[in-house]
Amino acid sequence: MTRRPLVAGNWKMNGSLASLAEVAAMGGAYDVALKARVELIVCPPATLVAMAVEVATRLGIGLGGQDCHVDASGAHTGDISAEMLKDAGASYVIVGHSERRADHGETDAIVQAKAAAALRAGLTPIVCVGETRAEREAGDALAVVGAQIDGSLPADAPDTIVVAYEPVWAIGTGLTPTPADVAQMHAFARERIEQRLGGGKSVNVRILYGGSVKPANAQELMSIANVDGALVGGASLTAKDFVAIADAYR
Ligand code: PGA
Repeated sequence: MTRRPLVAGNWKMNGSLASLAEVAAMGGAYDVALKARVELIVCPPATLVAMAVEVATRLGIGLGGQDCHVDASGAHTGDISAEMLKDAGASYVIVGHSERRADHGETDAIVQAKAAAALRAGLTPIVCVGETRAEREAGDALAVVGAQIDGSLPADAPDTIVVAYEPVWAIGTGLTPTPADVAQMHAFARERIEQRLGGGKSVNVRILYGGSVKPANAQELMSIANVDGALVGGASLTAKDFVAIADAYR
């Protein structure tokens, strides 16, 4: 088992050309010792990917998109394909974020097609899953996430794919599940990923935790078994907080 921890920043619909200074600052703090322990990537809005690559690559920071279309090209005004992200210099793409599922009606089937499109283009998909507050309160969290894993992961996906467990109620709220709940979900998710992909692949699949990760809770969350890194929203917008989260692996 050689799972290299991954800390990914999801900038969502935030950031301008001026924000590239934050990427440069992240690089300054992402020193040799930290690079040896954790992979760092930033997923800025699509408008910034190509420009961010220029800054990030020489600092050892990777780039990702936040969404992709299922097709490689065509008449889809406003959409961006996985091939375009690859061309712009990205190596990852987030698919199935709960905000995409909610705002754009993305179903598990759509998310699976997007993950397959990412793989086709040579990108690593970060496939997001997670239950709502009502689903957790009803005792359905494991069942919901299990079904999302079954429906959102291409059955023939390689073990390089990344899964992010992000409880919807923890995103942007300052709330996080208890360490015991995170441990239970991540262990369950790995078993379910094994059932879905087979062949012992799940042992190599990185499962990130996401939802209100910040410097103050990163150490605790990242030390939980089967947590292989973080998908960070709000706290990834400034180099100071983002690198402080990655520092949990120092
Ligand atoms: P947050 O967002 O860190 O701001 O809670 C996480 C995410 O949506 O990926």
